[in-house]
Amino acid sequence: MDWKSISTRILEGGTATPEEALALLEAPNSELLDILQAAYRLRHTHFGNTVSLHLLRNVKSGVCPEDCSFCSQSTKAINDVERYDMQTVDTILDGAQAAVDRQAKRYCLVSSTRSPSPKEVDTICEAVIQIKQKHPQLEICSSLGMLTEEKAIRLKEAGVNRFNHNLETSEKFFPEVVSTHDFDDRVNTAKLVKKVGLDLCCGGLFGMGESMQDRVDLAFALSDLQVDSVPVNFLDPRPGTAFHGKPNPLTPNDCLRALAMMRFVMPSVEIRIAGGRETTLFNLQALALYPANSMFTAGYLTTGGQDYETDKKMIEDAGFEVEMDAPAPEPKVDEKIMPDLHPNHA
Ligand code: SF4
Repeated sequence: MDWKSISTRILEGGTATPEEALALLEAPNSELLDILQAAYRLRHTHFGNTVSLHLLRNVKSGVCPEDCSFCSQSTKAINDVERYDMQTVDTILDGAQAAVDRQAKRYCLVSSTRSPSPKEVDTICEAVIQIKQKHPQLEICSSLGMLTEEKAIRLKEAGVNRFNHNLETSEKFFPEVVSTHDFDDRVNTAKLVKKVGLDLCCGGLFGMGESMQDRVDLAFALSDLQVDSVPVNFLDPRPGTAFHGKPNPLTPNDCLRALAMMRFVMPSVEIRIAGGRETTLFNLQALALYPANSMFTAGYLTTGGQDYETDKKMIEDAGFEVEMDAPAPEPKVDEKIMPDLHPNHA
């Protein structure tokens, strides 16, 4: 495949086809640098060389009644994950300061729940109102499970910028992963988020045994929902979950291809390297910045991760810059400033 030609077509307003997306996932490692270079042209056009940092806060941990097989916060998972109910407004506010200190563009409030109670929505809204007063530049994403329209409107009116609700995988593979709700439940909340005018953060998880076609189907389902942001997670099989102990089929290069495929299908959407970055990409993490323009820093909901100082150095060493440091990107591709991925190629 001529990946550069495909990226040129996309830059000129075309789209990647499902067949091309599948071919990208199945491409040999010998084509990987061409794929990353082509994905980078798309990423650079829309985001320059900036990397948007996000800091997670687990506002309610380990008490979810749902049975998502990958999730260590399900009550079905037998483990020693910390379990607590919704944190106080003051505790959530403390986390906002930590996000600002780490140059985060977004502070992501995540609750382990099927759907938030009215009291929990009250707490989140009060916390967000106070965060916006103290840190007006800090964007807020919340991930609180399934929403009703009334709850979505309340969050929007309190100042929440974005709501996360992942599809996780394709419609076909979803029943292999979750039995307590279905794919349509997730789609319905995602549509509600768009309907009330919140940004939609919606992504998935790779490495659960899904096929390459499932990965492509997920990407096009996300594109159909007109998502604003796509977190791409890679399975880190946690103790106590159904996936623990099973071999992880993802190689670091598979993860890079998955991110690049997402970029080809959704060229102007924020693509985030999310959970499992450190444990699947290993020392290829920096290469993931060529297709992706966003990442979590300083750990995840129930696991630690690379610290902020190491992330910042990795970003800068690779020739990128943290978005909160950067001027607005030029809306054009300039081949001359593209990092050279082919030092040995003419
Ligand atoms: S709904 Fe969310 S918190 Fe609950 S088990 Fe599934 S992924 Fe985990």
